[in-house]
Amino acid sequence: MAKDYYAILGVRRDASQEEIKKAYRRLARELHPDVNPDPATAERFKEINQAYEVLSDANKRKMYDLGADPFGSGATAGGTATGFGAGFPFSDIMDAFFGTGTASRGPRTRARRGRNHTIRVELDLTETAFGTTQELVVDTAVLCDVCQGSGTSPGTHPDTCDMCNGRGEVSQVTRSFLGQVMTTRPCPQCGGYGTIIRHPCQECAGDGRVRTRRTIKVRIPAGVEDGTHIQLAGEGEVGPGGGPPGDLFLEIVERPHPIFERRGDDLHCTVHLPMTAAALGTTLVIDTLDGPEEVDIRPGTQSGQIIPLYGRGVPHLNETGRGDLLIHVNVETPTRLDSQQEELLRQLAKLRGEEHPPGKFAPGQQGFFSRLRDAFNGR
Ligand SMILES: [Zn+2]
Ligand SMILES: [Zn+2]
Repeated sequence: MAKDYYAILGVRRDASQEEIKKAYRRLARELHPDVNPDPATAERFKEINQAYEVLSDANKRKMYDLGADPFGSGATAGGTATGFGAGFPFSDIMDAFFGTGTASRGPRTRARRGRNHTIRVELDLTETAFGTTQELVVDTAVLCDVCQGSGTSPGTHPDTCDMCNGRGEVSQVTRSFLGQVMTTRPCPQCGGYGTIIRHPCQECAGDGRVRTRRTIKVRIPAGVEDGTHIQLAGEGEVGPGGGPPGDLFLEIVERPHPIFERRGDDLHCTVHLPMTAAALGTTLVIDTLDGPEEVDIRPGTQSGQIIPLYGRGVPHLNETGRGDLLIHVNVETPTRLDSQQEELLRQLAKLRGEEHPPGKFAPGQQGFFSRLRDAFNGR
């Protein structure tokens, strides 16, 4: 015996018909080629069909238990068996089993939900930070006001389809191992609608909607960032046949700011300071999002130091509070000294005993993280 059909279905040898059917259903759902197109899976699907065909039939099962495999032992046997092959649509196999469909389906409606639509909205940092109201021009589809979405020319009605008699589907009887199986598919003449529009609306060519361009006013909340999606429910295009509209999505694109780099809700910038100013201390004016602000540079400020302006970053989206503005200091060593400047610096070096400094060596990026920590501790 080549194949253990009980193992293939994952049931015990004394499994009841109900258990076998249940196991098969579960596997068929999982492995049907319409669901799972992988070729290895298709092979397994064939196997479970063989297994089911044998085990679900009391006579065949008895023969099999006695050692006779109706499909023989070769791997190719059963390839043309009467089991459901890949050619059967998934819905049909499920219908045959569970009796769903035929009664409950009926003709489908022409009205379908409209598509979602995404538009990009480019904003400056101040707009993403504090929110803005934008007027946006949107190309969309709206309900045809000649036919009100029905797609029929005024004064006319759709005719009942004579192929399916308005049922929207046609049935066909096929023989299979389960006996006769009735498969049902959408009517090819009316496309499943059950009716045929012989006089389509001139305005929309029967689609029930017309394309147009409209302007909408949207309020963009404070704190959005590059990549934020804002959903405007029901602002997408109207569906065919007068179906409900889809949603409109706004994708925020933040234009780069000339000074500030945004990381989350924090803003970063770099200030270049002459060595003397860093040593002696100074006051700078920085244009924050809230306007000009004085920043105190203390005497002895080091290159790489970070000066935080708490709460001067971007407001949190849908929350209170704001990020910080972090100013990275870069101290610039003077180049091209004239003779007088050089002389003064030599005098300074002599006064400080720094004419022949040995230098202080430290591993790697030492200091970077402590500076960051100091910045956040407000040192
Ligand atoms: Zn129309
Ligand atoms: Zn039809």
